[in-house]
Amino acid sequence: SAAPEQPETETAVHIRGLTKHFRRQDGSTVPAIDGADLRIEKGEFVVLLGPSGCGKTTLLRSVAGLETPDSGQITVGGTTVFDGAAGINVGADRRELSMVFQSYALWPHMTAARNVRYPLENQRGSRRNRSTMNQRVAEALTAVGIGDLGGQYPSQLSGGQQQRVALARALVNNSDVVLFDEPLSNVDAKVRETLRVELLAMQRRFGFTALFVTHDQAEAMELATRIAVLDKGQVQQFGTPDEVYARPATEYVAKFIGNTNELDGTRADGGYITSLGLVRTSAAAGERATLLFRPEHGQLSAERPDTASALPGSVVAVLFMGTHTEFLVQAGESRLRIWVSGRSTDFREGNDVWVGLREQDVMVFPRDEAEQQE
Ligand code: ATP
Repeated sequence: SAAPEQPETETAVHIRGLTKHFRRQDGSTVPAIDGADLRIEKGEFVVLLGPSGCGKTTLLRSVAGLETPDSGQITVGGTTVFDGAAGINVGADRRELSMVFQSYALWPHMTAARNVRYPLENQRGSRRNRSTMNQRVAEALTAVGIGDLGGQYPSQLSGGQQQRVALARALVNNSDVVLFDEPLSNVDAKVRETLRVELLAMQRRFGFTALFVTHDQAEAMELATRIAVLDKGQVQQFGTPDEVYARPATEYVAKFIGNTNELDGTRADGGYITSLGLVRTSAAAGERATLLFRPEHGQLSAERPDTASALPGSVVAVLFMGTHTEFLVQAGESRLRIWVSGRSTDFREGNDVWVGLREQDVMVFPRDEAEQQE
């Protein structure tokens, strides 16, 4: 039978006009969330990304029902769980979602298996028999790669293993939506990488919608189908990793996602005049603009190149980074970072070089916007 046509049915989480202020000791208030709008489709892996204090945890906890926003609306699976104007605020335990915390939040006096079984035992409105529950627990533990550790207590497990238990506990309910609050930040780099890959595989397999908080942009790029970049409680951009990297909506997003070189420019015929000469671009952002380009987009050459723009400078350092070689180029007052993939021995310290730029690789942002962000 065909499902009825409803616009909300494919939306897993819909956040509209959400606002939340916190009161400081001195009585003043800070907006932790400032008019956030996000529509997350079913099966997406959405990452909330931003620096410390930008409001990502508060936004996640609002979806979970652990914070009460001031105003706005939240739906989960088409059901309104919060509506400030209508006075709706569904309790955390009645929202159809699971959450994985940074701190694992395991019961120390319960075995791993008991920790995973806990949400099943305490599920509202469903009486399950013991063997079905135990089977579900065993499946969940196996799914996260610790099928043999169910009898261990949290204190007997490594950080990575404890986080796997927490993950199994989130999966055991078969929730459509799983919220993650920096779940990988307490495990070491190697384990984190493994867990990321496994988490993605599990998300594809179980088919849940993930909403994942991190301040790590590489983690965001790797996990996300779409990234919501937050600044001061506002969603600056909501797009695929490709979009936020290649077409950042604001200077803030451009600088937060990846590395940039920066030049100040004044509008001229064909582009912007900088301290290094004319940088050609058809993008226009007012009389004075900040021009940014990624380190991998500068092309080094000994002779003046016939790219749209060419900036003269000299190499002051060469750093081999494994995947690429970083050339630091002093160009007038500017210290530019240029990346060449692999190991490059084309230029050495002291060499005069040109940095070639294609027109499409120059990102242009209005200058006064940058000043507002200071
Ligand atoms: P982090 O990565 O450091 O956890 P975040 O992006 O998750 O940061 P939030 O924890 O959501 O940011 O905090 C957003 C803002 O709200 C910050 O200015 C913070 O100081 C403030 N804030 C958060 N929780 C409270 C609280 N319980 N009482 C008062 N202010 C709070």
